Amino acid sequence: MKPIAEIPEAEAARIRYVLTDIDDTITNGGKLPAEAYSAMWKLHELGYRVIPVTGRSCGWCDLIAREWPAHAVVGENGAVVYYLDETGHLQVFTHPSVASPEVHGKLQAVREACLKAVPGCRVAKDQFSRMYDLAIDFAEEEPVLPLSAAEEIRAVCESMGAHAKVSSIHVNAWFGNYDKLTMTELFLREVLHETDFLHDVIFFGDSPNDEPMFAHFPVTCGVANIRPFADRMAHLPAYVAPLEGGFGFAAAVDVLLRKAGRA
Ligand SMILES: [Mg+2]
Repeated sequence: MKPIAEIPEAEAARIRYVLTDIDDTITNGGKLPAEAYSAMWKLHELGYRVIPVTGRSCGWCDLIAREWPAHAVVGENGAVVYYLDETGHLQVFTHPSVASPEVHGKLQAVREACLKAVPGCRVAKDQFSRMYDLAIDFAEEEPVLPLSAAEEIRAVCESMGAHAKVSSIHVNAWFGNYDKLTMTELFLREVLHETDFLHDVIFFGDSPNDEPMFAHFPVTCGVANIRPFADRMAHLPAYVAPLEGGFGFAAAVDVLLRKAGRA
């Protein structure tokens, strides 16, 4: 991971899409700081397409797509994309592999197994607005459990045939062949009709559930709080921001715009 200040001008100038994780990437201590939200507005007003890519629920995506300066939002780790169409109407693009009727029964069994296997973990409070995944909270609320507990939860999910990813706060589990990257690419190709965008994207993230994005896109940036996860990750971002969470995101956006000659 090189400091984001080392991004070459030509690389910065090509960027059209700013994709970003939400929790602990644009937030600090669970809050979205003004600096990060302003950075998103600045990008939006300059014509960049800002797309949050998150493990958060469909309920959150409805709000984000309607009210944030976002072109779209990928939610539930890639199950859905919410966006406003050209006439301002909310559209939901659902991954073709999610619509299995037995999903909810299977997730119910995974949920019971996780709660039994790892004392102290609990179902995330935003579970009521999830449509396709299960979120087990290990660090959003008290008691904050160690990353080893999150890894145990992930192992339980995977032993039952679910996909599972560890974010900085939740372990998300689902049935279906998608992740953040698969869905982002599908949406860009099928809905936005993009064909050649590999070098036109920067992705910001902070944790192992962002790895598919770090592995695929050449221009990626971690926020400073990614460092504790680095040992557990096979794919790290190309760059790292000087500060944590939303302050790091805002600082990196400043660098990006300056290097692209747009500040
Ligand atoms: Mg995160």
